[in-house]
Amino acid sequence: MSSASSTYGEIRHDWSRRQVLDLFALPFNDLLFTAQMVHRQHFDANRVQVSTLCSIKTGACPEDCTYCPQSARYDTGLEREKLMKVEKVLEEARAAKASGATRFCMGAAWRSPKNKDMPYVTQMVQEVKALGMETCMTLGMLSDEQAKGLADAGLDYYNHNLDTSPEYYGDIITTRTYEDRLNTLANVRAAGMKVCAGGIIGLGEEEKDRAGLLMQLANLSEHPESVPINMLVKVAGTPLENNKDLDPFEFIRCIAVARIMMPKSHVRLSAGRESMNDEMQSLAFLAGANSIFYGEKLLTTGNPEANEDMQLFKRLGIKPEEYQQYEDESAVEAELQAKISEQESDPFFYDAAKA
Ligand code: SF4
Repeated sequence: MSSASSTYGEIRHDWSRRQVLDLFALPFNDLLFTAQMVHRQHFDANRVQVSTLCSIKTGACPEDCTYCPQSARYDTGLEREKLMKVEKVLEEARAAKASGATRFCMGAAWRSPKNKDMPYVTQMVQEVKALGMETCMTLGMLSDEQAKGLADAGLDYYNHNLDTSPEYYGDIITTRTYEDRLNTLANVRAAGMKVCAGGIIGLGEEEKDRAGLLMQLANLSEHPESVPINMLVKVAGTPLENNKDLDPFEFIRCIAVARIMMPKSHVRLSAGRESMNDEMQSLAFLAGANSIFYGEKLLTTGNPEANEDMQLFKRLGIKPEEYQQYEDESAVEAELQAKISEQESDPFFYDAAKA
């Protein structure tokens, strides 16, 4: 490990499958140690960004994603809801802000937004931003024009996951292609928004597929700023309801490899966090996860109560990352570098790049 470790922490876009599989194959302690070293090169290791997710339109989705209770094709007993009124969305955003969230993510179960919906969603973006929160949306596939419209409204992040490797993808979704997903990510990037893209672990994929997913993300011309790593929530009525339980250490490995491959991205614990005990979540933070969804619901599957999260943060000495609006990105970088320098004088800091 020592010869290669001096390069860990660099931003790269040329990962080979062999290199990624080698990371997955490291002894667990070596992998976590490496991931934590990389994490400390770029982040304050005791800060976690907190987002809240609000389902602005629930269920009746025409897509066939086999893990999703919102697909109209599966009978999951989910109550369908029309597009939420802007005032209701704002009410939720105010409550999220009051409980410590800095980013408000709005999700709609659509194949893609219809043009008639765009004025409503752009209004939501403008008004949530006016509350002083970062905004994120996940609305399905976006044309370049729709992406520009959202960017003009001030949307900070757009979420669109790749879900799994290109090779395994066809076993999970047939109604949109991998290429469609990559095109949406390209439209989001070209419009100047930040990209949130990740995947799901526990779909029945093999380790090579997890490697394939992370390679796709890390070999994009820019790393997604936010990388959600979801653990499958097995919902009765979906085709994956009887999938084999995932070994928790396999999930933690995936977080650690994502951290090493995308050193400056926020790696987010997303769906599936409800079934993780405090010890597993702590291991995920140690492996480099530094963002969570917080609140009562994660779209339609449960999420631990917000106050339990804050209690865990307190026990671990973790503080929520604050949202500061900077005119100048260099101010953000300067602040981060100052925090990292503070860390370097910490006796627990070990920078492998300088070893
Ligand atoms: S994951 Fe998204 S696109 Fe797929 S069925 Fe669910 S809501 Fe629709």
